[in-house]
Amino acid sequence: MKPKGITPAPQDAAARKAVTPVICYPVESLPRPDLAAYRAVRDDLELVDRVMVPARDAACWPVPAGHFCRILCSEGSQVGDLNLFNAHDFNERLYTGKTRALNGTHVGLGDQLFSNMPYLRPIATITHDTLDWYGFDEFGGSVHDVIGTRCDPYTHNLLSNGGQYHYCCHSNLTRAFAKHTGKALAEASVHIHDVLNVFMCTGFTRDSGQYFMKASPVRPGDYLEFFAEIDLLGCMSACPGGDCSSEHSSDTAACYPLEVEVYKPVRQPRAWTSPALNGYDGTHGL
Ligand SMILES: [Zn+2]
Repeated sequence: MKPKGITPAPQDAAARKAVTPVICYPVESLPRPDLAAYRAVRDDLELVDRVMVPARDAACWPVPAGHFCRILCSEGSQVGDLNLFNAHDFNERLYTGKTRALNGTHVGLGDQLFSNMPYLRPIATITHDTLDWYGFDEFGGSVHDVIGTRCDPYTHNLLSNGGQYHYCCHSNLTRAFAKHTGKALAEASVHIHDVLNVFMCTGFTRDSGQYFMKASPVRPGDYLEFFAEIDLLGCMSACPGGDCSSEHSSDTAACYPLEVEVYKPVRQPRAWTSPALNGYDGTHGL
């Protein structure tokens, strides 16, 4: 249990708490994707790759710039932990922190996924989400979060008094990335980063602010689709938590594979060009 506060509230506590919040990053000045232009080319797509991500395991696959990638729930309610890399430079990768700061805690239709500094640019744009009807539920939960980090054996070790579990998303991603790139496990593991939790339903409890999960509303046939803004390497784990209705980091949950499809559009979106690297000059005031 977290300790309760011990400092008496000041007399103007209510007034201080009543201050209206302001958005940290007003995004009016952010160049927004032309969603209509992306969606206009979705009717004429050629399937070029299909990858199965086994339950309690992970897989890697390339998505060339200008292609669409769909993550599909094919057999049963299942959460996927997604990493995205620049296919030519693994140092550039999905940055969930800034993606969250700019879009919110959960991502969906029209949101851009950003890479880390100093590259910081949109690397993918979400172009379809069959769960976009969900919005936020009465608990403050929503789907596709960029707040969870990924289940990992180190946290499990701390929380379970020394437990050893080898099929957390972090380990699954590490094995798959190592196999795909030929890197040793130890080197591969440091490339694994905080994930987009595809299909996972999460939020923060209103009273204690704790990260919660609940059974994913995803059903077979649902999918999340994104457009690759640069050449990407995707890597995704089918979480050992299954639909994340009870627990992860164990073999007790019902788990299912996930499917990935990569599509090449016959035409490119109108006026689309792959985003350049971030324009900050990197001199940091010197
Ligand atoms: Zn997981």
